[in-house]
Amino acid sequence: MTDIVDEIRQAYAAVGIRLDQPATYGAYYRLLCAGCGRMVGNVGDKLLPSMAQDVVTAQFDLYASGLLGCACGHQRDATRRLDPDRWAAAQK
Ligand SMILES: [Zn+2]
Repeated sequence: MTDIVDEIRQAYAAVGIRLDQPATYGAYYRLLCAGCGRMVGNVGDKLLPSMAQDVVTAQFDLYASGLLGCACGHQRDATRRLDPDRWAAAQK
């Protein structure tokens, strides 16, 4: 595992998403719901250092409002725990 992959893993873990093993077709990792294991997307490992956190931070409102993430609501719950104030603001 490279540092950037660890960084991606940690950034997504904060919002309730875990990285699967690399997909066979290239340097992409499937993103799985940490609650129920359903695939919610994928991410490349070509991000520059610190970009993974920025991407997840930029998507916070979408996870909080349920527009992104798994239908089971795990990311919604995770973002609520992570930042209740921002989460509440995203519910409009
Ligand atoms: Zn789920």
